[in-house]
Amino acid sequence: MHPVTRFAPSPTGRLHLGHAFSALAAHDFARERDGTFLLRIEDIDPGRSRLEHVDAILEDLIWLGLEWDGEMIYQSERLDLYAAALDQLKAAGLVYPCFCTRADIAASVAAPHGPDGPVYPGTCRGLVDRDLSRPHAWRLDMTKALPVFSRGRGSMPNWMDDDKEIIATPEAFGDIVLARKDAPASYHLAVTVDDAAQGVTDIVRGQDLFAATHVHRLLQALLDLPTPRYHHHGLLTGADGSRLAKRHGAPTIASLREAGADPAALVAAMRRGEYPAGYSLVEAEGPDP
Ligand code: GLU
Repeated sequence: MHPVTRFAPSPTGRLHLGHAFSALAAHDFARERDGTFLLRIEDIDPGRSRLEHVDAILEDLIWLGLEWDGEMIYQSERLDLYAAALDQLKAAGLVYPCFCTRADIAASVAAPHGPDGPVYPGTCRGLVDRDLSRPHAWRLDMTKALPVFSRGRGSMPNWMDDDKEIIATPEAFGDIVLARKDAPASYHLAVTVDDAAQGVTDIVRGQDLFAATHVHRLLQALLDLPTPRYHHHGLLTGADGSRLAKRHGAPTIASLREAGADPAALVAAMRRGEYPAGYSLVEAEGPDP
């Protein structure tokens, strides 16, 4: 079977070397297996996505020589698909509207921390008065979703991460947001729907997204979608050991280009596991960083 991979950047800034490494990994995975490499622009966050960053991402990928197959897609043009998936979960009684503000949640001292930040304390879960004319998000009711997830199985569903079987344990995330007050779909919902809709068979992405895969596997089961194979790669770090994504002002691909870097040499070196001075690839022990 020919694999289908994708690079799915969020146009919230310029690409840095870590993004280029990830795009290269997904691109090469497909090319080495006579597969397809797709490009998807994850631009549903109205506060952070900018059209000018899309143009810059395309320019950077082209400069690096990473060609994608077919039309690239924009998540902002696929909101109906995410709404339909949310409707499916509403019909199954697995979601509820949440009227809390960020401040309400932050003020809840009891809220423990999960992989995505504070775990929602469930304030709106049992609410009787649900006035949907007020601004609201939609959250997954984890207490209802988990029994559906494991129903008819001896254990929780799994996925293959390279050749390792991982049992999904999404409960640590609590009642995740599926649609935000200000954005029609959350990252978790949109990415799960799109990977299935685009027929992605192999998800090649950084280990920083390993934890999120627990949630994606849950949503696949609830929405009756296929589970792709996952390949979470190590993360590039800068000279000070910090991850590029977390570092303010990490050198961008554009700055390397402006400094006269040779893209073919840069890509060839990264394929050999060699990175520009000061960068190194850090592999987490096992797939979980
Ligand atoms: N859009 C996400 C990001 O830029 C990546 C999504 C994914 O690969 O699943 O971090």
